[in-house]
Amino acid sequence: MQWETVIGLEVHVQLATRSKIFSGASTAFGAEPNSQACAVDLGLPGVLPVLNEQAVAMAVQFGLGIHADIPEVSVFDRKNYFYPDLPKGYQTSQMYDPIVGPGEVEINLEDGSTRTVRIHHAHLEEDAGKSLHEDFHGMTGIDLNRAGTPLLEIVSEPDMRSAKEAAAYLKAIHSIVTYLGISDGNMAEGSMRCDVNVSVRPKGQEAFGTRAEIKNVNSFRFVERAIEFEVERQVELIEDGGDVVQETRLYDPDADETRSMRTKEEANDYRYFPCPDLLPVVLDQAYVDHLRDNLPELPADKRARFENEFGLSAYDAGVLSASRAMAEYFERVKDVCGDAKQAANWVQGELSGALNREGLAIADSPVSADQLGELIVRVLDGTINGKAAKQVFQALWHGEGGSEGNSADAIIEAKGLKQVTDTGAIEAMIDQVIEESPGQVAQYRDAEPDKRGKMIGYFVGQVMKASRGTANPQQVNTMLKEKLDALC
Ligand code: ADP
Ligand code: MG
Repeated sequence: MQWETVIGLEVHVQLATRSKIFSGASTAFGAEPNSQACAVDLGLPGVLPVLNEQAVAMAVQFGLGIHADIPEVSVFDRKNYFYPDLPKGYQTSQMYDPIVGPGEVEINLEDGSTRTVRIHHAHLEEDAGKSLHEDFHGMTGIDLNRAGTPLLEIVSEPDMRSAKEAAAYLKAIHSIVTYLGISDGNMAEGSMRCDVNVSVRPKGQEAFGTRAEIKNVNSFRFVERAIEFEVERQVELIEDGGDVVQETRLYDPDADETRSMRTKEEANDYRYFPCPDLLPVVLDQAYVDHLRDNLPELPADKRARFENEFGLSAYDAGVLSASRAMAEYFERVKDVCGDAKQAANWVQGELSGALNREGLAIADSPVSADQLGELIVRVLDGTINGKAAKQVFQALWHGEGGSEGNSADAIIEAKGLKQVTDTGAIEAMIDQVIEESPGQVAQYRDAEPDKRGKMIGYFVGQVMKASRGTANPQQVNTMLKEKLDALC
């Protein structure tokens, strides 16, 4: 039997406001436990929440970025449950009238193709505190710094059909929220967490299978791994005659498996009801229009422009538009050197390679976009050849420009890397190499004419070496061939 996987994601994005969604306490990460929780976050009697306008603006920007309907009115509800890290006894969320209605997200697959995933809605809510199980022997610590941090929960339709598509979707969401600057997207610090809903059905069947929900998966890789494990578990269960039960499961990255947390029967009854302390949020059209007019160019549009305007492949355009920092760096290199394809090759090749090796983000690149652009100019105008260009790049990376300044030109000058195109100089080097290699010359002469092409490589290598890599390789090749053939 052939099985099809069905996946829907609920992604919690921590919004980059400076203060909390209903209080003035700071949202900065990493502070001393409980130093950033005020009376509102603690749910003390007599306090009232005040909605943070910045959180509303960010949620609307996201909605506009995914071409969603933005309803005029949205309403906050109380989701009631008991847990030690939830001092009020309820989470303020939006159940029935969310701030963002249905929309769409374009995802990029590895083969360069794209697909659309529908968004059911996105709503605003507050985060809970954190239980610390590790630091206290036999006890649990509670840190309420996170309580009241604004979250945007983005709920997809069950439109994904593989672990890879789910990861691509999560990357697309990450890319949109970081482009918009509404979240730092830092997954290691929990700024993006997701609940993964997974079911399987026989290929060709229309009705969905029963789903399991895997809670709190916090990396792209874990999303893929958790889904792969879960699909295998469900298929085996059904093939052995069992039934998947609707339940909440937890992914354990160390064991690389999912485990049951609670089944539907044990599920909480949240008794949602409208929060009497908060008025409905009413957005007037001018406010929404103003936010729409000030949206930055988003990844899907950038990608399309890179393809159409610059003639880049779908794959290259996808890679270069995946993060705003990468896209802006690339565009600056392109503007400086005037050649989009060269800029794309250098950014994805030499630069990305060096960044990956040292685990650096592009924002921390020791080579600036201007420096790289100026280096490419010197390749394009023939001042240096490709081999020397790599040397210049390494020198820029390590800041070896010295007193002349860390520019491509200063390094080319200091290291004597200017390409030699002077025919006389190249001819002298060729004559020298030929004179010093009588054996190879004899072999060349004795070889069948159609084998000689390959043998010329040795001579080219020697001449390039003699020029310390600076001779123009095409010229060396052509002139050598003429000289050697004249000897045959
Ligand atoms: P609930 O109301 O229980 O939270 P929803 O209908 O809101 O359930 O769905 C929650 C998430 O689960 C959504 O992202 C949705 O796409 C996904 N989902 C729903 N049904 C399935 C299914 N059969 N298989 C996989 N995902 C599903
Ligand atoms: Mg839900």
